[in-house]
Amino acid sequence: MNYKTDIGYRKEILTRLLNTIITHEDEIISALQDDFNKPAFEAVVTETSYVISDLKYTIKNISRWAKPKRVFPFVLNIPSSDYIYKEPYGKVLVIAPWNYPFQLALCPVISAVAAGNQVVLKPSELTPRTAEIIEKIIAKTFAFDHVEVIQGDVQVATNLLEQRWDYIFFTGSVAVGKIISKAAAKNLTPVTLELGGKNPCIVDESANLKLAAKRIVWGKFINAGQTCIAPDYILVHKKSKSDFIQYLKDEITLAYGDNPEVSPDYARIINAKNWSRLVGMIEETKVLFGGQYNSETNYISPTLIDESNLESLIMQEEIFGPLLPLLSYEDEAEINTIIAKYEKPLALYIFSERKSFCNTIIASHSFGGGCVNDTMVHFSNKQLPFGGVGHSGIGAYHGKLSFDIFSHHKGVVKKATWIDLPLRYAPYKDKLASIKKILNWI
Ligand code: NAD
Repeated sequence: MNYKTDIGYRKEILTRLLNTIITHEDEIISALQDDFNKPAFEAVVTETSYVISDLKYTIKNISRWAKPKRVFPFVLNIPSSDYIYKEPYGKVLVIAPWNYPFQLALCPVISAVAAGNQVVLKPSELTPRTAEIIEKIIAKTFAFDHVEVIQGDVQVATNLLEQRWDYIFFTGSVAVGKIISKAAAKNLTPVTLELGGKNPCIVDESANLKLAAKRIVWGKFINAGQTCIAPDYILVHKKSKSDFIQYLKDEITLAYGDNPEVSPDYARIINAKNWSRLVGMIEETKVLFGGQYNSETNYISPTLIDESNLESLIMQEEIFGPLLPLLSYEDEAEINTIIAKYEKPLALYIFSERKSFCNTIIASHSFGGGCVNDTMVHFSNKQLPFGGVGHSGIGAYHGKLSFDIFSHHKGVVKKATWIDLPLRYAPYKDKLASIKKILNWI
């Protein structure tokens, strides 16, 4: 079977992948638990079910997406029929991160295969149990020269980047994104870079504070805050601050109990290095709530931090952990000044009942994507592009767009031969006035 040209075969192999994943779902969930205590509920909702739904959607739509699309011809080319062909790039390299190690590895692979590519996947070395099960699933489903998993650390990734690829899809940090971009430039390899940033979350005085607190606590502390689109810091109106803090405290306790360390619903920090980085941030700030940690289990409790200095560590880099700094503002100019201090974020959230306020914020700041009166759920809509802008990434995927980014869009004009208008050919004598007239008319 030829996966490059045979759409039926692509559907068949993706259906086989779907069945293999369903068969191994329990193993995937327990691997995620072993790697960083990811709660089973979160593993199902954000990893296995997400991938299963993506596969079903892709299998259902692949024939339609792959079909050459007929477009209107340019007037001067008539009679012609014009098409956009979706051509696989060829050899695709996918490099995945550890925070959603199943979903963020598998989804790009699914789309790359759907588009007819050969794929090499390097999962993150920081989630070895998940990487192992991914390798097993891929090996059971695909011939190794169609999709192959290569395990390893930075050195392995570096070696892979030395090879020539037709497309590189990278999810991870901004710093490594720059390395990928540089390596890809050697061969002018196109890239998608899904990176991170500091995501602002604005809570204005008109917001439904209780609901805002509930939705922010969910988005911030799921996966123990290790989500690229988690709210990074809160900008709350001065008038609402004290009520809002109380709501946040209540919601954290409601979700994770008085001692989140014993909650079955709360993940751990991925490793000692990240744990130390986060504890370092706590130590130089004023803790409003939480602030407990345990080095033996890489535990850090959901933590609220008051009025961090913009020069402090926590406001210098992406937090990527369960620490939530609150900064208060009095007018919109302050919001704008703080957001503008940082590179363009991957996500931005606004909690407000004032439509004009929301629209002004959306129009005046550049960010990957976001929500009004919620956090993170824009990720779930397959009709919305997901990706960053500026330092938070290059390119976007999800839904049909995922198929499109792994395809070269080849435009072809199929010209009729029964007529050949003489106007464009030399000699041009006496033709300029007529061509001008036509070009002005078009
Ligand atoms: P990371 O950049 O450290 O690692 C990601 C992958 O790159 C891993 O597979 C790793 O082995 C590999 N890698 C590391 N150093 C490399 C090098 N020098 N050359 C080539 N490859 C290298 O990121 P991480 O810690 O796994 O993930 C956290 C980051 O990812 C956060 O910044 C987060 O915001 C971002 N992220 C973004 C998205 C998104 O969709 N935009 C999703 C998840 C995570």
